[in-house]
Amino acid sequence: MTDIKIPLLIPQLPNREALWPYLGQIDEKQHYSNFGPLVKRLESSLQQRFQLHAQIPLLVTTVSSATLGLELALSALGLPKGTRVLVPALTFVATLTAVIRAGYIPVVTDIDPDSWLLTPEIATEAAKSSDAGAVLAVATFSQPQDTLLWHEFQKKTGIRVVIDAAAAFGSQWVQAPDIPVVFSMHATKSLAAGEGGFVVSGEQKNIGLVTQMSNFGINLDPLAHLPVGYLSSVGTNAKLSEYHAAVALASLDGWDLMAATRRAVAARYRQSLIAACGSALIWQTGSEVAAPTTFSVRVGSYAVRQKLEDTCVKQGIATRRWYQPLLHQHAEKIEPLLSLPAHTAEAVADDLIGLPFFAMMSDEQMTAIVNAVHSVVSS
Ligand SMILES: *Cc1c(COP(=O)(O)O)cnc(C)c1O
Repeated sequence: MTDIKIPLLIPQLPNREALWPYLGQIDEKQHYSNFGPLVKRLESSLQQRFQLHAQIPLLVTTVSSATLGLELALSALGLPKGTRVLVPALTFVATLTAVIRAGYIPVVTDIDPDSWLLTPEIATEAAKSSDAGAVLAVATFSQPQDTLLWHEFQKKTGIRVVIDAAAAFGSQWVQAPDIPVVFSMHATKSLAAGEGGFVVSGEQKNIGLVTQMSNFGINLDPLAHLPVGYLSSVGTNAKLSEYHAAVALASLDGWDLMAATRRAVAARYRQSLIAACGSALIWQTGSEVAAPTTFSVRVGSYAVRQKLEDTCVKQGIATRRWYQPLLHQHAEKIEPLLSLPAHTAEAVADDLIGLPFFAMMSDEQMTAIVNAVHSVVSS
């Protein structure tokens, strides 16, 4: 194997100078976790950002990862154990594990051929044949979900909706009052804190429950029917530490600039590939991603992708079949799990390839990748 010369991605986190003032505040306050001042400040900064794009009041609560945020947002719906939850076939495995760990049964569902998303339209059909009680829709590859459309779907069908927007900070906004949306702050995501996440929702009750369950399920509300300190539900420890909040705040300070750089690189990259390969490449449709973190494209067939992967290995270019195997193609012991036909997801998975992407990609690196793709798709 050739040494990797072009890595798949390079995370972008604040350096020690950017962290310094926030670390100073931790030293001063000596508050290290349990909803400390930096966590509060982060939640308030995020809330303000989301509020600019919403007509309804929103709330934000931080968690230690998007995976736990998803598990808790799903649990907070309070649906009966064993409720069936639609999930798209093409997504990260955490979408699936969160549903199972919340006590529900995932039903793997197909995606739209153009946006590669599980849409309300697909969910409407899938719900008929699966007796679904909820949907965990995903902002796949940072392409946002339409929360207002999902709000209509939820109103019409009574089926609860949660959105996994782990990688979509900056692209996914929350416009509906009753659709919780979960974001990740993992090192590889749009707003990077190393590890971490947060849930945005217009529902006070849902957000309150997520916060409570992130702190073991302990009641901290003096107005509740239960004394403070009593366990109100079986939660977990999913609190964000002050240290992670410090990184997130520093990340947020530089986010707009970082996002603009990433958008520019992605646009140039895509234009070069289109100029070289024309219509041989198939792209996910939708709006421009605010801060792209990965770069995936369909190359036309399984055989072409295989050839491209071989070429990239020889040239030291890292690639990744993101989100594969599809959710229903993992080991049999991963259960409970139901699946509906997912022919579109399978077709997309057949020729989808993740190419290297990072903000500091040089012209030489970009040219090498474009040439590799061109040499394969045009032969
Ligand atoms: C990254 C990702 C997750 C998991 O996020 P963590 O914060 O690492 O737990 C969940 N869903 C999707 C779609 C993701 O891309």
